[in-house]
Amino acid sequence: MSSHIQKMRIEGVYEQRQPDTYMLRAKVPGGVLSAEQALKVCEIAERFAGGGIHLTSRASIELHWLKVEDLAEVMRMLAAVGLTTRGACGGAVRGVVCSTPFADDFPTAQVLARKLHHHFTHNPHFENLPKKFKLGVEAGYDGSRHLIQDVGLVYAGNDGEGACYDVWVAGGLGREPQPAFSLERRVPEGHIVPLIEGIIRIYRRHTPAGKRLKHLLREIGSAEFIRRLEEEVDRDAVLPLPDGFDKRLTPLVGSGRPERIEAHLFAGELEAGRLRRLCNIAAQFAGGFMVLTCDQNVAFLLDERVNIGEAEAALAAAGLDGTEQATRVNFRVCPGSHECRMGLCPTRDVSRSVIEALGPQGETLTWAISGCPNSCSQPQLAQAGIIISKTVGEPGGERTPRFDLYRREGGEAFATAVHQGLTLDELLQAVAKIG
Ligand code: SF4
Repeated sequence: MSSHIQKMRIEGVYEQRQPDTYMLRAKVPGGVLSAEQALKVCEIAERFAGGGIHLTSRASIELHWLKVEDLAEVMRMLAAVGLTTRGACGGAVRGVVCSTPFADDFPTAQVLARKLHHHFTHNPHFENLPKKFKLGVEAGYDGSRHLIQDVGLVYAGNDGEGACYDVWVAGGLGREPQPAFSLERRVPEGHIVPLIEGIIRIYRRHTPAGKRLKHLLREIGSAEFIRRLEEEVDRDAVLPLPDGFDKRLTPLVGSGRPERIEAHLFAGELEAGRLRRLCNIAAQFAGGFMVLTCDQNVAFLLDERVNIGEAEAALAAAGLDGTEQATRVNFRVCPGSHECRMGLCPTRDVSRSVIEALGPQGETLTWAISGCPNSCSQPQLAQAGIIISKTVGEPGGERTPRFDLYRREGGEAFATAVHQGLTLDELLQAVAKIG
């Protein structure tokens, strides 16, 4: 890879496996996207990306099939609607996720997610890190995604003076999955920024290039990590992020509050035409905003004055109400060898075959498939996960993929492998038996 392209990583650019073809990833803090922003994404997709848009399992937007000469213009167009790609790839604080849009306290979590995004993005103190650094702000513990962040914050109520968060540190999946450990409970929001800054400084200073924070944890243990953190961070330091007014963007959710509906996509794939229809639904029913979910779908928190039946009918008319077989199953899918240089097999094709093979019980599970052991689609957090672990074949000959099947039972942090090294036929037989 040329050093020029390597430098473009920090701008959110990756080379695709197809020569002279690039992917650009845009951050969407908390997954909250305005209809105006989405319309601009449609325009970019049609002009430069063959009309396709990919939603990731971290609620970011990826545009594939770009040419190098188009990248600067695409970034300018995104900037015109307040979207940035800075730090979406490379050794930086990545897009701040909030995977709990249907939880009552999502309005609180989405605001902190956006504040942290602004604080850590394009800030030289938090770039040039050994590897990616992932932040998540959750409105509750559903989905367990706090376990896979470098810093995962879970809303823990209001102590009378402001919001408090449980802080989880040094989690990650990839080839060496490690659940985050609980650093501290009920940390007031004013202490969150100094704490994360201290964690990043320790990460940068003590971790070899190419390694995540979880690597440092394995090296030194949590007691030594906490000792270094106490030296590093003045625990009395408060960096408040005060608000002059309510900064949430979506309509309020919460008990007795408006309904929520969800557009179900296959593998996070969306064409500009369908995204335009979702923009209309956002404008008409959801205060002008949609929420990209970490299951690669699109959620709408409906304005309390709207008629939910009309909103559901609009979703059905767009063909996104989850009644098609491919979208009936909750299935996270990474790009695999369709576009990704690391991909060992075409994940979308395999997931379609798996969905066709599933029985009624298998269809009720949450699924995820990753095209290599990097585990971008978080298969260890699904009830049933598939990882393409390797390919086999004679040197110079055709290589065929081998699949590991994971299951996650209640109480386990991560799913564990129940079958390893399956051929595609063996995989389809195994998933058909799930009942
Ligand atoms: S899991 Fe592997 S194949 Fe899939 S997107 Fe990540 S790096 Fe690419």
